This record gives sequence, C-alpha cells and structure tokens, in this order.
Amino acid sequence: MGTLIPLDEAQDYVLRRCEGPASVVVPLAEARGLVLAESVDASEHVPPFANTAMDGFALRAADTVGAPVTLDLVGTVSAGVDPVAIGVEVGPGDAVRIMTGAPMPPGADAVVMVELAKASPDGAVVTVGVEVPVGNHVRAAGEDLMIGDRVFDAGTVLRPGHLGVLASIGVATVPVRRRLRVGVLSTGDELREGPVALAPGQIRDANRPALLGLLNELGAEAVDLGRVADDEAAIEAALIGGVARCDAMLTSGGVSMGDFDYVKVVLDRIGDMRWMQVAIKPAKPLAFGLVEGVPVFGLPGNPVSSMVSFELFARPALRAMAGHRDLDRRRVRAEVVGGLGRHPDGKVHFARVVVEIVDGRFRVRSAGGQGSHQLTSMAVADGLAVLPDGAGVANGDQVEVLLLG
Ligand code: AMP
Ligand code: MG
Repeated sequence: MGTLIPLDEAQDYVLRRCEGPASVVVPLAEARGLVLAESVDASEHVPPFANTAMDGFALRAADTVGAPVTLDLVGTVSAGVDPVAIGVEVGPGDAVRIMTGAPMPPGADAVVMVELAKASPDGAVVTVGVEVPVGNHVRAAGEDLMIGDRVFDAGTVLRPGHLGVLASIGVATVPVRRRLRVGVLSTGDELREGPVALAPGQIRDANRPALLGLLNELGAEAVDLGRVADDEAAIEAALIGGVARCDAMLTSGGVSMGDFDYVKVVLDRIGDMRWMQVAIKPAKPLAFGLVEGVPVFGLPGNPVSSMVSFELFARPALRAMAGHRDLDRRRVRAEVVGGLGRHPDGKVHFARVVVEIVDGRFRVRSAGGQGSHQLTSMAVADGLAVLPDGAGVANGDQVEVLLLG
C-alpha cells in the first residue's frame, strides 16, 4: 500500500490542474445564477438626477420656517417630465406639485409630503403645515451609485438584485462564465437501476442520482452518462465520449485496490492522471487526471465516499472552474452532543452530523451509521465534522464542521 497523501496536498494538486472555459456574453435576462466574468463599473449616476421620494410639494426649505405658511402654487411635475423643458421653477414663496420619482424643479431644495399640506380649492396656493429641512424627501443624484464606482467584482454570482442594478446603469448584456457541463458515469458489473428485480450480487446505482443532484445544486449542467460494466474497453469508450462533450467528468467506482478496478487503469493509459490514497475517511482513493485536457474525477464507489470526495475535491475545483471566488463550504466550530468516536489510523475522519443552532451556537450530533455504505446518514446530515487523527471527540467538546448547504 502506498503512502497516504495529506488532504490539503491532494486538494491543491487537483485545483492547480483545473481550468475553466472562457467567458461568454449573455443578455441580462439569461444571466441569473451565472458568475460575472469581469468587474463592472458604473457609467452613470443612480439615480441619474435629484428627485422626490414622495408625492407632495417641492419648495424652498427656508420658506417653511414658522409653519404653517402659505405658498404660491406655480406648477406640477410628474415622473418622467423635465421641469426645465416645461418652464417650471421654484422662486421664493413658491411651491410646485410633485409626484414620486419626478425631478426636483430648479430652485426647490425640499419636499413636503402631500399629507402635511393642503392646496386651496382653486389650486392657486398651498398651506404647508410643517417646517422641513433642506433635502427633505429628496433623493440626491448618485445616492445609490456614482459614475466610476465599482458596482460588482468578477466572481459575483448574479442574483435577481444584481440584475436590477445592472439594468439600472444601462447594462443589457454581461460577460459571464459559461455554465459548466459536467458528466456523471457509474461503473460496476453489479449495478442496476430502477424497479427491476435484483439477481443475487446486484445492487442499484445510488451514486449517479446523488452526484447529478450535487452538480445541479452547484449550478452546473449535469450530464447523465449512464453506467458501464467493469470492462476496460467500455470504460475507455465512455470516458472518451464524455470528455468530448463535457467541461469535466465524474466517475464513481473502480478506483480502489480490487482486481476489477479499471477506471484508474484506463485513466492511466489515456490521461495525464494521478491515483491518490488520501489520508481521510471516508473517500480515501481518488483518481484524478486530465483526458484531452478535461478534468476527470475518479471518485470512489461507496456511496458516502463518492459524495464526500465530491465535497472535498470536485466541488471546490468545479467552483474555481466556474469563476467563483470562494470555493469552500463554510466552516464553523460546534459543540458535540453525545461524542463522535473513532480510532487512531493516521487519517482525518469526516463524520456525518446533524447541525442545530441553540442560543446562537452550533451544536452537532451524529447523523447515524458512519459506514461508507450507509447513505441514509449522509442524506440527513447537514454537516461533516472534522475529526483529527486520534480517539475522537467527547461529549461537550468542540469540533470543526463543514456545513453542507
Ligand atoms: P469499487 O470502488 O468499484 O470497488 O466500489 C466500492 C463499493 O461501492 C462496492 O461495494 C460497490 O458495489 C459500491 N458501488 C460502486 N458504485 C456504486 C454505485 N453507483 N451505487 C451504489 N454503490 C456503488
Ligand atoms: Mg466496482
């Protein structure tokens, strides 16, 4: 058995070899959820001009001293109208009827909301009931964004609010990182799927749906490449076919120490690949390599191992390829309830845990059976507790936890 590689070394090796596809320009309407490829600076002020936040009366704040005061009504400005173009101006003792979003007329420096003023029946004058300061209910030009401001950095995931901001500065198309296409392939003579009767020795393929789901969660386009038998030629054909249409590939199974573990054999032959034994449990074996320049993650076959390996190796690498800045899951300190046992074996263990927040503090307890074939505990887990080599973590002690989702 070869030497075990520390986790961070293996992660580093993988990350350094993964390069994402070039960026593309898409209409704003198609950009939600994608990663911005270049930073964006404001080419306009937002708002573009000083305007009123309220329906009411634009006036000079100085004229409201000693309110109630009565001012001459000299015009009306509604949203979308340029007061200069229609000759509306506020002189001393004047007021202008104004609607939310309308530009402040020249001469006015404050707005009194309609509820605090009363126009005469003939509309000639308005009586203002309150004294207001300069700038009252006025939104200054550039109060949200000024020309030249950095709006968003490259690597920003575009959520609905980001799309609104980009539209507000006149951006119609954005440079984004293309959504990654990632293929998923299961390997193993024993695998079947769906509601078929299982012959002795057969099991159903659990890894492919789980890995496809993890990819969907990541925002990638998950490509189902089916399953292949433990057959060198079949595995090679599936890998060659997969890398031709994908930016990256995940396989599961066939990378352990067994006699029929052909994935690592094939990858070794057709790719620039490294087979690693990582000092972690679960998910010790990992075959990683480039086939035609496309990263291929040869994940272990045990269902929990394949998911944990995805978390530790594929997820950060795929996020980097997709242009994200932060690659890792959030890590928190948590108190262990009931203890998390293990034996010393030179590896870091990742225990599936259920996470709860009690009085603002994280608490974790085992999510169930910790065997690498026991997928139900992975399904209900919302974290992986990091157990350093040793005898485990006792009830009430602190542990570091990687939060899943
Ligand atoms: P392997 O790495 O191919 O030796 O597989 C290790 C274990 O994982 C074996 O018990 C396999 O039957 C199981 N396994 C491999 N692939 C899958 C899969 N897609 N779904 C469920 N179990 C699997
Ligand atoms: Mg197998």
